[in-house]
Amino acid sequence: MPQFYSRNEAALAEDYRRDQKMGAEGGNIPLLFLKNGVTEIRILPPYSEAGSFFKEVKEHSSTKDGKFNPIACGRQFGVDCAFCNEGERLFQEGGEDNVQAAREYKPRSNFFFNVLVVSSPTGDVNLTHGVKVMKTGVMVKRDILDIDQDAAAGFADITHPEGGINLRITRQGQGRMNTKYNTKPTSTRTGLPELLATVGSSIEELTMYNLDEVVDVPTAEQIVQALADTNATPGFDAAPPVKAPAQVPTVGPRIPMANPVGPGVPIPAPNPPNPAPPVGIPILPPPPPGIKGEQ
Ligand SMILES: [Zn+2]
Repeated sequence: MPQFYSRNEAALAEDYRRDQKMGAEGGNIPLLFLKNGVTEIRILPPYSEAGSFFKEVKEHSSTKDGKFNPIACGRQFGVDCAFCNEGERLFQEGGEDNVQAAREYKPRSNFFFNVLVVSSPTGDVNLTHGVKVMKTGVMVKRDILDIDQDAAAGFADITHPEGGINLRITRQGQGRMNTKYNTKPTSTRTGLPELLATVGSSIEELTMYNLDEVVDVPTAEQIVQALADTNATPGFDAAPPVKAPAQVPTVGPRIPMANPVGPGVPIPAPNPPNPAPPVGIPILPPPPPGIKGEQ
């Protein structure tokens, strides 16, 4: 007589709901790639007991049938990696061309975050779409951590559910080398409940993604195949294909913030930049620092 266990209806329903949601996205995970313009996001708190709110994954630039199709570096999972092997072989062979080519076989770090999208440049993603998994490179991740850790400027703990901070990330330019990002905190701390209430949603309706599983662990054979596909692409360049040029948004001045505040305490609105005074009018001294806004 086999041992049967009772069903976990809640877990089954959750899995089903998640599958339905993923199906609607057309992929396994609803990935968010930043587009040119300003995207306002809210990074959600840590997704696992490890306590981090992002996941680093090293990936190789790979192409399949002319399409950019990155594959996770096997070595970070203890899997033999044909891309790394090939890069090292070229490097050891030496010569300017080989050393140059070896660079294309190096893995690049990407970072994944569970986020809510408050607004997007094209307006097609917003808070009603639930949790997205934002994928960024090292520069944006560094800027995000700078803001998160900057207690002196009042930014710290940006993922706090009751008093975190939304971020506005501006992307401009095109191509791997010419794309610039600028990440700024918004001027007010917001609770997730209030944020979600603006679209009639609540925290209970959010589905967090386990970022440790956001990228498939490839087998050594899959990596060999990806390398073969990539090398079969004429004019292989590890950079993603260049998209149509987009307008360059203007980037505002850095927003001054108040001293550190507790969760839920509003931060005073930033002062507008001082316009140049007309000639002949003396410049007033700035207000003394440390003036606190309403509590
Ligand atoms: Zn590798």
